[in-house]
Amino acid sequence: MADSMHEKLKERATITMPVIDKHYELIETSKAKEIIDRAMNLAREEIPKGAVATYIPELSKMDPHQLGICLYPLKGEKICLGDYNTRFTMQSVSKVVMLIVALEVCGLKPVFRKVGMEPSGEAFDSLVELDVSDSKPYNPLINSGALAVCGLLLPEVSFQDMLRYTRNICSDPGIELNEDVFDSEMKTCSRNRSIAYLLQSKGIITTDVEDTLRFYTKMCSMNVTAESLANLGKKLANDGVCNIDGKRFMSSRTARIAKTLMLTCGMYDGSGTFAIKVGIPTKSGVGGGLLSVSDKRAGIGVFGPALDAQGNSIAGCKLLREISNELRLNLFYDPEWNKEDSDDTVLKEMQAKSVM
Ligand code: GLN
Repeated sequence: MADSMHEKLKERATITMPVIDKHYELIETSKAKEIIDRAMNLAREEIPKGAVATYIPELSKMDPHQLGICLYPLKGEKICLGDYNTRFTMQSVSKVVMLIVALEVCGLKPVFRKVGMEPSGEAFDSLVELDVSDSKPYNPLINSGALAVCGLLLPEVSFQDMLRYTRNICSDPGIELNEDVFDSEMKTCSRNRSIAYLLQSKGIITTDVEDTLRFYTKMCSMNVTAESLANLGKKLANDGVCNIDGKRFMSSRTARIAKTLMLTCGMYDGSGTFAIKVGIPTKSGVGGGLLSVSDKRAGIGVFGPALDAQGNSIAGCKLLREISNELRLNLFYDPEWNKEDSDDTVLKEMQAKSVM
């Protein structure tokens, strides 16, 4: 170790920091609103760098300029800003619901016999590695893994059961199947169809492939809002229980597994960077939705349909990043956090040098 580095570390060790109260509350509502408002303006600047999904033709009709957030704390007032009430399709955010129901209905072992629990480091619709003998999908939050989960669910539950459960856990009776998006995706889903047939050839999917594909695509085509996602997130934050009426939606073990996988795999091949920058377990969807869980603190739903290269909401990610530390939502809240240090350019430089 270089001498200067040694000196620096020695010097660091002499600084005493105040003890942080782990049970901190969310910042007071009007202050939080101000912080989110400011973050929304910064996030809007990102929109021109992204684009709405076009590989599902119906999604290309979305207005990329929309941005909304609902932050629903377990303690404190719900904060809703921008397009928080606009309906959009859940897309891959529904993979969290499928996982929850599969863990509850089929059990842990059957689920993880079909899918792994590791990040893939690859695109959400990747087929790479799937053909390697004895391999199974990396995790249930990518397309191949979710299709495998659907194969397990299909004999147990109907789409109507899933729709009812989603309405309840999102506290949103208005959730419907968006038929236009469903039809549009069914006509263009050759990649998912290939994945599903490959999974069948490996014995991972034993149900009818076309039925499984339809079930999966219907789940992706449910129309939600940022507010409905915040409601779902709040139940996950509270270990599967609604903090208002005490109703349990899943075991705390299922909630823990879902949150852990959201942290490690929820943003596809952007999961690691997002965890460093934002530190909030989050699941994205190409409809522009983000479901975030600040454990024991709040559920957050975001909507911003302009996507980055990984298919995650570009403005939504920026928005979460801006508020995560200031509102102490980050899982690894950093009391010494300095905006300048965590600038994108620094991270990019470090990644380029393979420091991380
Ligand atoms: N329905 C989409 C698909 O299967 C979901 C992908 C996503 O949201 N990332 O391609």
